[in-house]
Amino acid sequence: MAWKDSSFYSILNTKCPRCHEGDMFPKGTLYNVSKFAEMNEKCSCCGQYFEPETGYYYGAMFVSYGFSTAIFIGVWILLSMLVEEVTLPMMIVALIVSVIALLPINFRLSRSIWIHIFIRYKGPCTLENNKS
Ligand SMILES: [Zn+2]
Repeated sequence: MAWKDSSFYSILNTKCPRCHEGDMFPKGTLYNVSKFAEMNEKCSCCGQYFEPETGYYYGAMFVSYGFSTAIFIGVWILLSMLVEEVTLPMMIVALIVSVIALLPINFRLSRSIWIHIFIRYKGPCTLENNKS
């Protein structure tokens, strides 16, 4: 199996879950404050809709919550290693900064994981049977 066929590749690169080719998000907008949450309507390659129904990404909040917990633990471990005595205000500032800094990545990866759970890979969109 080629690396491009793996869901891991597709999730990390926020590619279309069905063909792993089209982009879920417009290129170059990850760290654009007003645009990071914008999604392409459908896959430019196979036509898969990225928001099949309203409220589709409600459940992605739980994935996002998992990431936030991981960030929390990561910040805590890092601070404990760097600073002799970690104080609460220090912890809170470090958390707020890292959560905000990682927000676009967290947001996109959560949605990417969520849609990949429900939509299966059907091979490259160049295949005739994978056009919609
Ligand atoms: Zn596609």
